[in-house]
Amino acid sequence: MGIEIGPALSRIREAVAGQAVPVVDLIAVQTKDPFKILVATILSARTRDEVTARAAESLFTRANNVGDLARLDQENLEKLIRPVGFFRNKARYLSQLPAILFERFDGKIPRTMDELLSLPGVGRKTANLVLAQAFQIPAICVDTHVHRIMNIWGYVETTSPEATEQALRKKLPHEHWIEINSLLVAFGQSICRPVGPHCDACVLAPDCPRIGVVPRKGRPTAVEARGRQKGLRLVSWNVNGLRAVTKKGFVDWARELAPDVLALQEIKALPEQLPVEVLELQGYHAYFHSAERKGYSGVAIYSRQEPRRVITGLADDRFDSEGRVLTLEFADFFLVNAYFPNARHDLTRLDLKGDFNRCFHDFVDRLAREKTVVTCGDFNVAHQPIDLANPESNTGNPGFTPAERAWMDDYVAGGWIDTFRSRNPGPDFYTWWSYRSRARERNIGWRIDYFFIDPASVDRIVDAAILNDVMGSDHCPVMLELKVS
Ligand code: SF4
Repeated sequence: MGIEIGPALSRIREAVAGQAVPVVDLIAVQTKDPFKILVATILSARTRDEVTARAAESLFTRANNVGDLARLDQENLEKLIRPVGFFRNKARYLSQLPAILFERFDGKIPRTMDELLSLPGVGRKTANLVLAQAFQIPAICVDTHVHRIMNIWGYVETTSPEATEQALRKKLPHEHWIEINSLLVAFGQSICRPVGPHCDACVLAPDCPRIGVVPRKGRPTAVEARGRQKGLRLVSWNVNGLRAVTKKGFVDWARELAPDVLALQEIKALPEQLPVEVLELQGYHAYFHSAERKGYSGVAIYSRQEPRRVITGLADDRFDSEGRVLTLEFADFFLVNAYFPNARHDLTRLDLKGDFNRCFHDFVDRLAREKTVVTCGDFNVAHQPIDLANPESNTGNPGFTPAERAWMDDYVAGGWIDTFRSRNPGPDFYTWWSYRSRARERNIGWRIDYFFIDPASVDRIVDAAILNDVMGSDHCPVMLELKVS
């Protein structure tokens, strides 16, 4: 049986009753002021509700209306809203807003979609939220939760929030338009979560087709529960710039996912260039191996547990000067975090990459004589044709050359287990997408980020996953749950 929208939303309404109301809704109820609703909506993009609420409060003490806002310059605005994501951009939008409102809208907040879209920092999502919350005009605000959950239910079949909005406008009864966003945001944050949805505790479980939900696990058995209690959650992510991803909510994401170990590649920063909340991520010991060249390569590991030993590099200057490998030793395993060189478009670094591969392979084989070794990171190679969307047209390109694939064959033949593939034999699982041609939206990607484990430790794999709904980089994170021996 599929989802019937009316009854499903009723059940969700009951399930999320009593949960914190999204901050924009709260401001709407408390103030009924279109100016404050618009400003809070702009502040809330890619920012946690508590942070938005604090920033909105401090801004509204100085700017209660459009006229007050006009008296604040960008520097002051930045200071007032500072904790929110993309605060510089948002401060710029807010500093431009009063002049436009006075010139074109008599100092008032406009109440049509086209007029709202003409304001700085206002996209369809914001405009829909303002129309619905400020003016009670039927509008559907589609954010990532609405888009994701509507597709999981099979209520729409779309590949972007914009397409979901258009599909819902045709299909969703008007009575649900205004409330759909706050209901599904609350539901998506608490039960139908992007990573590991709680299907076992969901009121819709009997009817939900769970399209694209991986893995789809029910309540764990006693044995599984014991395994999970003992499991360590290891996550690896090529962030393509740690400072860049910090502006896109990295700290909030890490806090929410709460991995035991978080290995990052391509941090592109020296430790002293990082903001303090990243340098000293709360609850973690942090280790960095940056490249000598500024803004290039570099790896980092955050660990809840203090390791016994930290090994920096591979004892080869060619690679260590580029900040490629960082290893933590724990009581019962080594975690080796690596950012493999890219062969380059003209393959001028293919030989160097081959040297790196062999050096890395020797290093981890040596460690595996002592105890379990988990290797992770961006290997910069898709192993098999199944690991990229267009294998034929990419044959010979960096990341899919015969030489790189042959090395991976050799690595796997030596016993190293590709943990994700060992549990997910099917196609269409990728970890990297080009920024061009809407590749991620169309899932035209490559699987080049991995967790491997040595063959003697295969029984320690509890779970392996690709967290492909985590945005912020051109790669997504990958995860391994490792049984503690
Ligand atoms: S059953 Fe699972 S996938 Fe379906 S709505 Fe509930 S939590 Fe989401």
